[in-house]
Amino acid sequence: MKPIGILGGTFDPVHVGHLRLALEAWEALALEQVRLVPNATPPHRAQPGASAEQRLAMIRLAVAGHPGLAVDERELRRPAPSYTIDTLESLRSELGEERPLCLILGADAFVLLETWRRWQALLRVAHLVVAHRPGFPSQTWVARMGELLARELRARATDDPADLKRMPAGRILLFPVTQLDVRATELRRLLAAGRSPRYLIPDCVLDYIEKHHLYRAMDAN
Ligand code: ATP
Repeated sequence: MKPIGILGGTFDPVHVGHLRLALEAWEALALEQVRLVPNATPPHRAQPGASAEQRLAMIRLAVAGHPGLAVDERELRRPAPSYTIDTLESLRSELGEERPLCLILGADAFVLLETWRRWQALLRVAHLVVAHRPGFPSQTWVARMGELLARELRARATDDPADLKRMPAGRILLFPVTQLDVRATELRRLLAAGRSPRYLIPDCVLDYIEKHHLYRAMDAN
């Protein structure tokens, strides 16, 4: 049974770093689909610059027509805040006990996993696919994480995508995605300064941002 990928985030706004990660994971790991899951009130960070509806609209535009990419709105429909474990458990009960689930996340997010709600339960419900990210060389990951997470990593690490199909959850796959040093914070800063993020986000998303006057100076954070 092909695994389902889940890429959560604020997507404020969605950019080529997110989209290449989703697409490359879909192709390289032979996933059924990758669902982009925008969060409501992110527990770990300041409030986003665009509204939930606007972030959702931009993701919809970005993935429209792609057979392997989809949007999942469940975190926006739940009362905030969004916890990934709740999302995964809700997907698990919808998709059944057998279906492999892969939570895709960048190395910057992974090294902080121990701060997430019920983080050890995540590995009972899903595999983790940890994407390399510029500024986070893999030799430094262990030094940036706590001892418990380092132990989980040693016990569960794999670089073989076939392992993700052998069981529904519990492995940690290290994923060398194309390294794109793009981050939403930087894009918001560019826009607030009146500069163009063209070619770092899809044209359809940039058109939406311009049409709705998003991320102008007073919105920047
Ligand atoms: P911000 O700058 O606002 O923190 P971001 O660009 O990191 O935003 P998020 O919505 O926080 O975007 O990221 C969602 C997920 O996508 C996280 O797991 C993050 O690690 C990953 N991600 C974001 N940008 C990239 C990138 N350029 N390459 C690989 N992974 C990325």
